[in-house]
Amino acid sequence: MAVLAGKAALVTGGSRGIGAAIVLRLASEGASVAFTYSSSSEQANSLVEKVAAAGGKAIAIKADAADQEAVRAAVRETAKQFGKIDILVNNAGIIVLGSIDEIKEADFQRILSVNVHSVFTATQEVLHHMPDGGRIVHIGSVNSERMPFVGGSVYALTKGAIFSFTKGLARDLGPRNITVNNIQPGPVDTEGNPASGPFAETLLGLMALKRYGKAEEIAGMVSYLVGPEAGYITGASLLIDGGFAA
Ligand code: NDP
Repeated sequence: MAVLAGKAALVTGGSRGIGAAIVLRLASEGASVAFTYSSSSEQANSLVEKVAAAGGKAIAIKADAADQEAVRAAVRETAKQFGKIDILVNNAGIIVLGSIDEIKEADFQRILSVNVHSVFTATQEVLHHMPDGGRIVHIGSVNSERMPFVGGSVYALTKGAIFSFTKGLARDLGPRNITVNNIQPGPVDTEGNPASGPFAETLLGLMALKRYGKAEEIAGMVSYLVGPEAGYITGASLLIDGGFAA
């Protein structure tokens, strides 16, 4: 059903994984979708073609989320192409693992740039182009609420920042009827966290449901939050984690 017909969306980090599933889902519901990526040009191009083959519209924009000017330029390019941006999904994210004595300053700065600073930048720039009633969704993590193993402190810090930012932003943007929500996935099978990877056994041991989530399941929650039925949800951090935090 084309519930998003006439809407324009921007998804950061959309070339692979959860972001790509979000691009496909929003496009399948009728939205015109721009997405950013930093290096996966081949995957980005094939995603654009896949959306087009299904009768939808997607454009790929190369923009490293660690480069704040590139993020602003990507937002401006999206607005130029579509005339407005109704939906922003801040999905781009990286993970840096290591106990606190091991984390290097450069890695700390990079994860802050990608996971936190770019969310601020994209949001601030998008607001120049977002009509009242728009939707902002962040992809945070269950690790803002539960970090049950050694080495995840800095990743948890970044996702905790998104948890809090969501609440403040919802207050700022309520008068414009723009909703702001934070989806907090548990383990989701992507290249970033493969279900066959070295952490799988540990992660499954911590969960109520003994399986990884699918990127499509996260995309389904995004679809609901940006759709017409979710207009009364704002400032919320919503878990979709197989009971990781239960
Ligand atoms: P992947 O590593 O599988 O994919 C990441 C996507 O983001 C790719 O499209 C990648 O494109 C893009 N990306 C990465 N770095 C940058 C950058 N600097 N600038 C622009 N784009 C970038 O990650 P996931 O799909 O697993 O994760 C997506 C989001 O979900 C992240 O915010 C992550 O923290 C969050 N999350 C993931 C979980 C999981 O278990 N998978 C669990 C909880 C949260 P490119 O290759 O071109 O860089």
